[in-house]
Amino acid sequence: MQYNKVTTEVIEKLECILGKDFVLADDETVCNYNHDYTEDLKYNPEVVVKPRTAAEVSEILKIANAHNVPVTPRGAGTGLSGGALPVYGGIILSTERMNSILEIDERNLQCTVEPGVINQHLRDSVEAKGLFYPPDPASRGSCFIGGNLAECAGGPKAVKYGVTKDYVLNCEVVLPTGEIIWTGANVLKNSTGYNLTQLMVGSEGTLGIITKVVLKLIPFPSENLLMLVPFRTSEKACEAVSAVFKAGITPSAMEFMERDALKFVMQVTDVKVPLPDYVQAHLLIEVDGNDRDVLLKSAKKYQKCYTVLNAKKYCLQTPPNKKQIYGAHAELLARL
Ligand SMILES: Cc1cc2nc3c(=O)[nH]c(=O)nc-3n(C[C@H](O)[C@H](O)[C@H](O)COP(=O)(O)OP(=O)(O)OC[C@H]3O[C@@H](n4cnc5c(N)ncnc54)[C@H](O)[C@@H]3O)c2cc1C
Repeated sequence: MQYNKVTTEVIEKLECILGKDFVLADDETVCNYNHDYTEDLKYNPEVVVKPRTAAEVSEILKIANAHNVPVTPRGAGTGLSGGALPVYGGIILSTERMNSILEIDERNLQCTVEPGVINQHLRDSVEAKGLFYPPDPASRGSCFIGGNLAECAGGPKAVKYGVTKDYVLNCEVVLPTGEIIWTGANVLKNSTGYNLTQLMVGSEGTLGIITKVVLKLIPFPSENLLMLVPFRTSEKACEAVSAVFKAGITPSAMEFMERDALKFVMQVTDVKVPLPDYVQAHLLIEVDGNDRDVLLKSAKKYQKCYTVLNAKKYCLQTPPNKKQIYGAHAELLARL
């Protein structure tokens, strides 16, 4: 596909819509927006625009369409698949100013947010109301909800709660022509018609620009228990994963950690766990729910799986609603 360059006329039209402060083509800005987290790839945009509203996004896309200039939407730029790289130059459309949580609807267990809301900010805001937004990419402290949708992001909690696609009910999208549409309705069941909402999920900015999202929320689980289980080999740790599922237990999070990863974590945090020479891998396993006794029973079931696999057992515990990991190890599981 052949595109045109961004001309002075295009820049002037963009400035008319956004004002000069939010149409940037200086070297420093170009440099800041010419990469994401994908390897060392760099492609310079010709101009970076920072709209605040869907109406502004619509006007930008109309101009780009009329002048045949490429537009690359961008969230926080933490993507690992190159989606935010402006490979054809043109316009980078950053959603960083579209960062409001518009509504948390406690009665219907939904929220409506703009695409530039940081994942962790949303999690914290809904948690304060006793609600839970589970998709938890490791980049959650910086990545945006719009980027999460466009990449269908997920994290350790996917094992029980699913990924971004499982929480998107509806979204407002600006199409390349500038037309603003809603892809569905704010309901759990929508049985007829094309599923445009899910079409947008994972579309990496190729179909339109997401300007509002309605997300499903669930009640916040009040209790959780975090276990760190050491294994003599990576293979044994992997075997344990299917043993856990075969035992009929669904953890709320599960993550494989090789020895070096844990060593590094201990170097840069105050988390300390014993790491004898024969331990080569760990599984980090979380169970959650609302009844501590039930969780402790699940932990006992886990214990059986690991005993079968000849793993040594120990456990870290997280207090509910606190980020700090405290207390280590053997005695806790031994007491179960
Ligand atoms: C340290 C680190 C850890 C990570 N951990 C995980 C992980 O655990 N799980 C996981 O899934 N990913 C992970 N990622 C990848 C990345 O964080 C996710 O893909 C995240 O969803 C990207 O969000 P972003 O806001 O940074 O999007 P960007 O990188 O800015 O953009 C990503 C894509 O989304 C498009 N896009 C952004 N906003 C919009 C919008 N409003 N409308 C339409 N398209 C849009 C862009 O065009 C691009 O194609 C990690 C990345 C890093 C650097």
